[in-house]
Amino acid sequence: MISDHLQVIDFNKKLKSWYLENHRPLLWRQTSDPYKIWLSEIILQQTRVAQGTPYYEKFVLNYPTVFDLAAADERDILRHWQGLGYYSRARNMHFTARQIVNDYGGKFPGTAIELSRLKGLGNYTAAAIASFSFGQVIPAIDGNVYRVMARLFGIFTDILSNDAKKEFTLLAAQIISKEDPATYNQAMIEFGAIQCVPVAPDCSVCPFTYMCYAYEFNLQGKLPVKAKKAASRNRYFNYFILQKGGLLAMQERKSKDIWKGLYDFYMVESDDLIASPDYFPENETIGDILENGRIREIPKVFLHLLTHQRLHVRFWWVDIDENTNITLPPGLNFYDLDEVHSLPKPILVDTVLREEGFFAGE
Ligand code: SF4
Repeated sequence: MISDHLQVIDFNKKLKSWYLENHRPLLWRQTSDPYKIWLSEIILQQTRVAQGTPYYEKFVLNYPTVFDLAAADERDILRHWQGLGYYSRARNMHFTARQIVNDYGGKFPGTAIELSRLKGLGNYTAAAIASFSFGQVIPAIDGNVYRVMARLFGIFTDILSNDAKKEFTLLAAQIISKEDPATYNQAMIEFGAIQCVPVAPDCSVCPFTYMCYAYEFNLQGKLPVKAKKAASRNRYFNYFILQKGGLLAMQERKSKDIWKGLYDFYMVESDDLIASPDYFPENETIGDILENGRIREIPKVFLHLLTHQRLHVRFWWVDIDENTNITLPPGLNFYDLDEVHSLPKPILVDTVLREEGFFAGE
């Protein structure tokens, strides 16, 4: 454990020199613009660096400033976000951009406490922006940093518990560099991301073996302590893709359920995987579809994993003659190919349209 001022200085010196030699040249590390750092942090909450980088580039290109993002159409933002999942983050991002423009004249507030009052900014993101952009001496503790600290200092507190936040923050406040908090935070995060990795870290090249608790007691596999997550819920979605000529029937998802604001097809949820649409004898819409359309089963069952849900998804493609009158259920409307293309959609819906060749003529 680090117990005095000189050890703190020595630790920071070693950490910084490790960082300068080893860090990846990530785009958002080359700026102190809080808007861009914020974008990168929100995107990286969703995905890994390699997958997140093109999204970051796309957002910076389409919305170079917070004013551009604030003025954007939410549907376009969701479309650019498509594939990252957890779409409420994109909506919160849009809301926050408008808040910064309207309430702060387009300038991000400069302290973690003010930043954490903005929608969608947790303590970690607020601290990261405050230190990277404004040099505030405040530790930014993400999953990587929890791991590094738990191993270095032998902390056995469950990192998902309420106590952990306080305990790790107190300790981090003692070891953070007061002269260069931005580099300290960047370095701790990067150290966890590429050196003190979750499985089998290569301790032989680590500059901290002399002081690392996990290394001394061979506990790298046991630290950090993390309680098991609640099991995922299985859900079974049955989609009917209604096509009339070049038009597809789609609807905006409005409820508080997953994918709010995105567009999908007529869907009925079942308690289990079903083999045929005949499973829904009471459903008038499906009765109408079976009577008036030519139905084609897409044999594949898609498995789509969300944070706490496992979606088992089936699709049936239904061709309806152009002169057949069919009453669409409320909320569904027909859209042409260009519109379908530009509507924000869950990645799964986009995938099935591509696999079935709907966009082939583009
Ligand atoms: S010695 Fe190993 S476990 Fe300890 S900080 Fe270094 S990489 Fe992580």
